[in-house]
Amino acid sequence: MELTVAQPCPTCGAEIVLREDERLLRCDYCDVNNYMVHSSLPRFLLPARLPTHIQQRDLFYLPYLRFKGVVYTYGGQKVRHSIIDTTRAGSGLEKIPLSLGLRPQVMNILPVTANTPGGFIKQSVAAKTVFKEAAKLTTVVSGSRKNKFIHMAFIGESLSRIYLPVYCHRGALYDGVTRRMLLEEVVSDNLEALSVAGRKEWEPKFISTLCPGCGDPMEAAGGSLVMICTNCDSGWLEQGGRFEAADGLTVKGSADCGYVPFWYLKTTTAGAELASFADFLELTNQPVMIRKSHREKQLAFMVPAFKANPRTYLQAARNFTLRQGLFPDGERTFKGHRYPVTMPSGEAAQSIKSVLAFCAVSHVKIRELIGRLSFTVAAPKLIYLPFRDAGHDVIQEQSGISISAAALKYGLKM
Ligand SMILES: [Zn+2]
Ligand SMILES: [Zn+2]
Repeated sequence: MELTVAQPCPTCGAEIVLREDERLLRCDYCDVNNYMVHSSLPRFLLPARLPTHIQQRDLFYLPYLRFKGVVYTYGGQKVRHSIIDTTRAGSGLEKIPLSLGLRPQVMNILPVTANTPGGFIKQSVAAKTVFKEAAKLTTVVSGSRKNKFIHMAFIGESLSRIYLPVYCHRGALYDGVTRRMLLEEVVSDNLEALSVAGRKEWEPKFISTLCPGCGDPMEAAGGSLVMICTNCDSGWLEQGGRFEAADGLTVKGSADCGYVPFWYLKTTTAGAELASFADFLELTNQPVMIRKSHREKQLAFMVPAFKANPRTYLQAARNFTLRQGLFPDGERTFKGHRYPVTMPSGEAAQSIKSVLAFCAVSHVKIRELIGRLSFTVAAPKLIYLPFRDAGHDVIQEQSGISISAAALKYGLKM
């Protein structure tokens, strides 16, 4: 499910409705654009619909954790994947609904601010524990006797906390959205003791969308994480609350191509001798002749920098990683049609072990090693590759590798 957020414009206060993964706020009223930076765990609430005898300040908010993304498991033979998209209670209170169900997607959720009246019940169950419970609902984790796995990764598209408003009335606890009774008996003093007021640091921050290089307005089509300035031909990524120049290269293509972004992740490995591209080819048992150039090349993975279904993602990551030698050096430019970067490099890095296992032709060596392996990525680099439209597929110009056109939901040319 895709959630929509009713976010007030930080400049004029007008309500802007946007997708939860969008960062660029375009205000039609004051014509100012702002880029939104969330705290580590964004917090939202379901809007309450209160009976007249209840005030906003009497509300308590029960925390639910929202997980949306892909769970990858590897059992030593095959990488399996499941989409996870759920909310799970994090308050530890008994007998309250375990999940918010479909409710968050039928209403616009609101950002939590320091001024939100009411008490926020603290999360008492560790996020890891909540996630484990949620993951059990997926097919790759449930029935684990049959599908025993030795590696699991969660590539989170959205991780957030959504609060359900509740209120006490005559000793009972009520849902503040449906007004249905949740618990027959509840002591509001106990809830009071478990709760805290909203905090400033929970609020999103906003940064200017003027180019740090030249002061012109930047653009980011399709919710891209990379803001582009066409005036000085530069790209920018938010890091720690400010825009830093994106380390990006573009492999030149034909005149009417579209450029699709990939993360080039140079890795250092602990737990195994896996330093060069040759080590990778040997470990995954590729049917290729190992050359001197393979031995001299540091291992790097090349994975999509855009969100795609897990099968497409894994196949593209394997194909581009294996054939990365085919691409000529890129240029520093952001001109031309750009497909949006929608996958942060940190998430891409978390998929490396699953990609490695997916690359394996024979699993004997990897099965042994995977539990001990850990990868570190020092400086993720963006590489834009030229693709041309071939109807059902888009085809990468230098390598001939194709990706289903349906995987690029915004289309090759924006
Ligand atoms: Zn505005
Ligand atoms: Zn500029």
